Amino acid sequence: MEVADYIYLDHNATTPVDPRVLDAMLPYFTEVFGNAASIDHEAGHMAMRAVETAREQCARIIGAVEPKEIVFTSGATESDNIALLGVAERYADKGDHIVTCVTEHKAVLDCCQRLEQLGKRVTYLPVDQYGLIDLDQLRNALTPQTILISIMFANNEIGTIAPVKEIGAIAREHGVLFHTDAAQAVGHVPVEVDEMNIDLLSFSAHKTYGPKGIGGLYVRRRNPRVKVAPVIYGGGHELGLRSGTLNVPGIVGMGKAFEIARQQMKTDAKKYREWIQMMYEQLCEQLGDVALNGHPTQRLPHNLNVSIKGIESKSLVVQLKNIAISTGSACTSATVEPSHVIKALGFGEDRAHNAIRIGVGRYNQQEQLDYAVRGIVTAARRLQQLWT
Ligand SMILES: *Cc1c(COP(=O)(O)O)cnc(C)c1O
Repeated sequence: MEVADYIYLDHNATTPVDPRVLDAMLPYFTEVFGNAASIDHEAGHMAMRAVETAREQCARIIGAVEPKEIVFTSGATESDNIALLGVAERYADKGDHIVTCVTEHKAVLDCCQRLEQLGKRVTYLPVDQYGLIDLDQLRNALTPQTILISIMFANNEIGTIAPVKEIGAIAREHGVLFHTDAAQAVGHVPVEVDEMNIDLLSFSAHKTYGPKGIGGLYVRRRNPRVKVAPVIYGGGHELGLRSGTLNVPGIVGMGKAFEIARQQMKTDAKKYREWIQMMYEQLCEQLGDVALNGHPTQRLPHNLNVSIKGIESKSLVVQLKNIAISTGSACTSATVEPSHVIKALGFGEDRAHNAIRIGVGRYNQQEQLDYAVRGIVTAARRLQQLWT
């Protein structure tokens, strides 16, 4: 093989751990192994201080005023669960209605389904051809019983970035809480919880060169003070919202990953945008009928999602032995159902069956991307010949 043995282009599913992140984590497995809650002694204190430094780093990257507003969890899935189930329970007196959107991650959609089983009401807003909700439809969906709007910051399949600031303003104006799943956005595009009126925000380390199994939930403490019922009960860790001994190495790694992202985000994004544009143009030139899924400009810099006409993506990706791209999100590629996100764009089933997702990242090189485009084009042409 000419460029590298294996070309990983699925950075919207997960990213490798940055070696600087790993270095920061390692001492916390062996040398500084204390329980961050056991502050009767220095071992615990050292762990606790490392956790608090990471909490500051997490707060900083999303513009949170107080580090206390960060609650550590096992990842964005758990954060979404706490946000939706916890707010629904805590604000049951105020109302029973939640507004979300059809292209959300399953972590949000499955929580909404559960809430419906529990007797709550959920409105699933549709999206336009770019994956954007209509703000007037959002306004019209709100009722006096609405307690929460949950709209993802950036879509994990098509990369579309929601008009978060406008949604936040609408939520604030109507006295409704606003939660956003920002697993794909934090560390990749600017996120400002105050400016955007975000009340709850889910994030994860492993989409931003941190380790898997660690994430967090931002919970606003002022204007308004958001209250959330716990989903996990136990020792009262994390202000009682998420009991369980803290994953100190994971938390340290996430803090470091976000610190690095904060410094590199702008330059990385510029490079990724150029790469994505180049790959898209080459695919269009060489294959003709290639449609971009998602918004042309309001999108994640490192994501490309296209449908190649007549080419089923399942058949395409199995031909790419040494190139990792995906047919949809990691969570749905275990099933045969085509992506609920691409289907929601309204172009029909075929468009969903033909969708491939490419996610570039920190350790890719230009030559790898050229190689991947050649590989995709060759495989697509081979399939076209087979089928005609
Ligand atoms: C990856 C992802 C999740 C799940 O995050 P985990 O930390 O793996 O649980 C949730 N939402 C979105 C948008 C994601 O991209």
